[in-house]
Amino acid sequence: MPADYHTHTPLCFHAQGEPEAFVDAALAAGLTEYGISDHAPQVPEPFDDWRMLEASLPDYFLWVERARIRAAGRIPIRVGLECDWLPGCEPWIANLAARHDWDYLIGSVHYLDTWDFDNPKWLGRWAESDVAEVWTRYWKTYAQMAESGLFDILGHPDLVKKFGHTPPGDLARYYEPAVNAIAAAGCLIELNTAGWHKPCAEAYPAAGFLELACSAGVPLVLSSDAHAPNEIGRDFARAIALAKAAGYRETTLIDQHQRRNETL
Ligand code: ZN
Ligand code: FE
Ligand code: FE
Ligand code: ZN
Repeated sequence: MPADYHTHTPLCFHAQGEPEAFVDAALAAGLTEYGISDHAPQVPEPFDDWRMLEASLPDYFLWVERARIRAAGRIPIRVGLECDWLPGCEPWIANLAARHDWDYLIGSVHYLDTWDFDNPKWLGRWAESDVAEVWTRYWKTYAQMAESGLFDILGHPDLVKKFGHTPPGDLARYYEPAVNAIAAAGCLIELNTAGWHKPCAEAYPAAGFLELACSAGVPLVLSSDAHAPNEIGRDFARAIALAKAAGYRETTLIDQHQRRNETL
């Protein structure tokens, strides 16, 4: 199985499990590598209630160390962060990037301005929203994140569909500019299996996006976005089939921001 680089820890307040249990699950799933990438701190604090606090970073490194001890000689452990792309965040991302020898940083769009649109508490707000307008803003934001060059991996590309809000018609009009920006920036994307367990009932991204990304030469990683040990490597067989159907023949391994390919 490929590596799983997008996984969380209890330090973000909405994940569970001990590092040893995550490692055991990664081994049981037969993953090539296990990467830990919790929700990065964001200033000013408290920013929201679903991320690590800045003061928790030492605990994060201890958590990673426990994983490394459990994994020793059996599976490589990589460490990164899932960072939020927010207006004006560049200096903060650079600040975070300098605090550790991260293997990679994941960039995610969970916010449009001050709206964390993927938070279930906002279902009422979604019901009142112009879906096409939100999609336009989301994809513009996503392309800007790619162009920033701050991230190794771009997270859950079409997260905006999480609750099943999708504009009518061919979605390629949204996908194409984003894929072009991602390809031009040389970023990796992830095929994130968590979407299969959300109201949208699709992986992130959808098959149509994945086909465009493959044609544009955008490299791919698979990820579970696990928030508990039993979610590590979840649905990877299904994800491999989806990636292959989109034309992918390889996934990517990352160590200290350096990429290698692995046959799918
Ligand atoms: Zn989370
Ligand atoms: Fe996320
Ligand atoms: Fe995540
Ligand atoms: Zn995520």
